[in-house]
Amino acid sequence: MTPRSAQRFPSLGQIVSVRHAMQDVLPPPSGQNPPSAVAPRDDAARVTPMMAQYVEIKAANPDCLLFYRMGDFYELFFSDAEIASRTLGIVLTKRGKHQGHDIAMCGVPVERADDYLQRLIAAGHRVAVCEQVEDPAEAKKRGPKSVVRRDVVRLVTPGTITEERLLEPGRASLLVAVARRKLSDDGALYGLAAIDISTGRFSVMETPQERLAIEFARLEPREIVCPDAIYDDPAMKAFWHEVNVPVTPLAREGLDAASAERRLKEFFGVATLDAFGAFTRAEIAAAGAALAYVERTQFGARPPLSPPVRDAGAGTMLIDAATRTNLELTRTLSGERTGSLLATIDRTATPGGARLLAERLAGPLTDTAAIANRHDAIAALVADSALREDLQRALARVPDVARALARLSLDRGGPRDLAALGAGLTAAREIAALLARQGTLPQDLASAASALGATDPALPTRLTDTLAEDLPLNRRDGRFVREGFDAALDELRLLQVDSRKVIAQLQARYSAETGCRTLRIKHNSMLGYFVEVPQAVGEDFLKEPWRATFVHRQTMSDAMRFSSIELGELEAKIASAADRALKLELGVFAALCEAVLAQAEPIKAAAAALAEIDVFAGLAELASREGWSRPVIDDSAAFIITGGRHPVVEAALKRDGKPFVANDSELSPPGESSNGGRICLITGPNMAGKSTFLRQNALIAVLAQMGSFVPAASAHLGIVDRLFSRVGAADDLARGRSTFMVEMVETAAILNQAGPRALVILDEIGRGTATFDGLSIAWAAIEHLHEVNRCRSLFATHYHELTALGDRLERVSNATVRVTEWNGEVIFLHEVVAGAADRSYGIQVAKLAGLPLAVVERARAILSELEKTEREKPVASLVDDLPLFAAPVRRAAPVAAIAAVDALREALNELDLDEMTPRAALEALYRLKGLG
Ligand code: ADP
Ligand code: MG
Repeated sequence: MTPRSAQRFPSLGQIVSVRHAMQDVLPPPSGQNPPSAVAPRDDAARVTPMMAQYVEIKAANPDCLLFYRMGDFYELFFSDAEIASRTLGIVLTKRGKHQGHDIAMCGVPVERADDYLQRLIAAGHRVAVCEQVEDPAEAKKRGPKSVVRRDVVRLVTPGTITEERLLEPGRASLLVAVARRKLSDDGALYGLAAIDISTGRFSVMETPQERLAIEFARLEPREIVCPDAIYDDPAMKAFWHEVNVPVTPLAREGLDAASAERRLKEFFGVATLDAFGAFTRAEIAAAGAALAYVERTQFGARPPLSPPVRDAGAGTMLIDAATRTNLELTRTLSGERTGSLLATIDRTATPGGARLLAERLAGPLTDTAAIANRHDAIAALVADSALREDLQRALARVPDVARALARLSLDRGGPRDLAALGAGLTAAREIAALLARQGTLPQDLASAASALGATDPALPTRLTDTLAEDLPLNRRDGRFVREGFDAALDELRLLQVDSRKVIAQLQARYSAETGCRTLRIKHNSMLGYFVEVPQAVGEDFLKEPWRATFVHRQTMSDAMRFSSIELGELEAKIASAADRALKLELGVFAALCEAVLAQAEPIKAAAAALAEIDVFAGLAELASREGWSRPVIDDSAAFIITGGRHPVVEAALKRDGKPFVANDSELSPPGESSNGGRICLITGPNMAGKSTFLRQNALIAVLAQMGSFVPAASAHLGIVDRLFSRVGAADDLARGRSTFMVEMVETAAILNQAGPRALVILDEIGRGTATFDGLSIAWAAIEHLHEVNRCRSLFATHYHELTALGDRLERVSNATVRVTEWNGEVIFLHEVVAGAADRSYGIQVAKLAGLPLAVVERARAILSELEKTEREKPVASLVDDLPLFAAPVRRAAPVAAIAAVDALREALNELDLDEMTPRAALEALYRLKGLG
């Protein structure tokens, strides 16, 4: 997560403080006079009608920045203005006074509002867009001082945006609502509902509390909403902090399952939800809350939501946030997409395909049949490269159909969205035809092909026949209807063109009649059309005979401007032609929109099918270009990879013209009778390639189960239901924990949670503390994995002493990454072989890194002394002396320990050090000691 999105807004505290701030600007309640000492009953207490309106609207939307429409600008006032000017770097000004105080103000031009909105949303704010909802002329009729009526027409929040410029093309934009069902035994089940308003996707699921964080890590919502009871629950406080996404608490009225069901039935126009599937009460409550929030932010505009479906969540590999970060699945450690596994494997041609690929990578499946279906589809496209290339060529012309459709349904679309649908649906039919040429298609491709064929072929033709080639962004700009489509429209346009010709003729005539060769007819928004002449000529125009023709309008420094009756008439004609033309065009737009929306469901299905075909074609392309192979996936505990590679490291090396050394791995249970997967213990010097090897095995499992081919000569994997990956001593300054603490909390989570079907990657666990501490912890952890978790594991370590465990524990095998030494320099071969490293080569690596020679020499001398001591009493011999890890393990102990630490951390966080007296500090210290 980037630090920007880490900013939480609005938290309850912030909302409350906004409310307080509002009290300062709110007019006094009616019937109650302001205390005269504070606000004397003179100018200072006066509230202009406009400010009164502003304050009323702001009070109804306290948790949003209010964009208040004034002419061509959205203005922000008071603290909103201060926040916006700081966030956007725009000038803060003043606009009059309110109750005797200056009103802070800043504004953004309506034309560029999207850019500013994007930045405010990215900074975690929400924005209420308040428009003028009547013609200013209407307001004037009510009296000279009346204010134009305004209303909030939309709330722009991180999870409910639809504008192309505010969205990342390759990433879903999910709003996730949470509901809770308490269980009798103190636990609770959570209902989650995810809505992507930009595509209409709507899914629900139910999950136990322990998995809540994992599901959020998979879904990566842009915004979370939940009833305030859940938000305010003290037990959830640390959780909301961890998820690191803006959370919006909702007042709980109307969020119960019964109201939710009513709301859903109403929205989808059905008498019962049964048609959509059997949902639990928590799922329905969550779906209702999500829908309520969408309705609240859209103010009547209707997003094209599909009926809710059950999310794949339950059938996916569980991968917690730390593991995702650590493996850099969709983002690198520094938070960027470039350099992640996703970026490396993404060969999709469409935004919808890119989003689906990201979604599949985030949630690898656990159902072997579903995985095999995906592999079948890729295999077909690997085998038929001509078909694949044809498909990819056609896909390259497919725009973002799903998001264009969503904008049109919300009445926020433009001519380009209609054109996008035309192009997308045309390509869809071509793709359907390409697939139809094949004999039998694998199941997933066949169902995608049939969805493509279900759209009305007349619609894309109608769209392309109606729309012009070059399209404006906004429909109000007009000129998007193709010439020749509508005779009346063509005539009006001709009239506009002709009128311009007539104006040119008029200019020539005036010029000839007045003898002024520099006379020009110009146009601006203030005066409309006018005649401009130099000052001297203008003076003449003020006199007879010209004053009968020209009416003076404006005197400039060196020119004068006049209007004339002829010009006025012409102008009216031009303007009315333009008006009538625009009206006709808007009518055409509305008709096209209606035709499109009448087919919203088949179009959405086609968009989903295009995305799926794109994903398959992209993965097939990747597999054939990079030499990836189809993995064998079954329900065994196998894990056999030959010639495995790390796709991201390999790609990086390739750019430098260097080869990647492929490696085998084997974690299957060693014999028929053995009960548990193998633990591979990898030693080797720094920079040898241990971490790369560890991660490549995890990535291959993820890729295989997401339905992709894998970067290996062959792979046979039994389903992995849960994946863990941890690196020793990783920094986590953002969360304010010591590195070693993080390492231990995460190791604890693995040892407590990993079941027999898990895959565990532990990279240099124990590194963050003193040697013997670290060694002991690593040692005990391996024994626990072997005896209790019994899962397939890879464990990299620089503690050679641990390799002795290989002889002692049945399912622990040793491997090392080969290096050789040449002329005192270490050479990395990156080859993983059975056995243990003889030593660390730390000093050689340090020398490579450029440590001063004197330091290197001195280190060598110290090392040889230390090694002498070690030879006298080797730590490794301890392995034989110590009894084996004593099962049964008391699982409760570490959990309790963590709970104590959490309580401590919370208590620590609550201390306000700057406000404490020395005595209070001492008391606090005693209190903390009691907690520990
Ligand atoms: P370690 O964890 O043992 O310190 P890393 O896995 O971080 O080593 O690898 C160090 C570097 O070695 C990588 O950045 C990569 O450039 C290179 N490397 C690692 N594995 C391979 C490999 N199999 N083939 C080629 N180069 C590799
Ligand atoms: Mg490493």
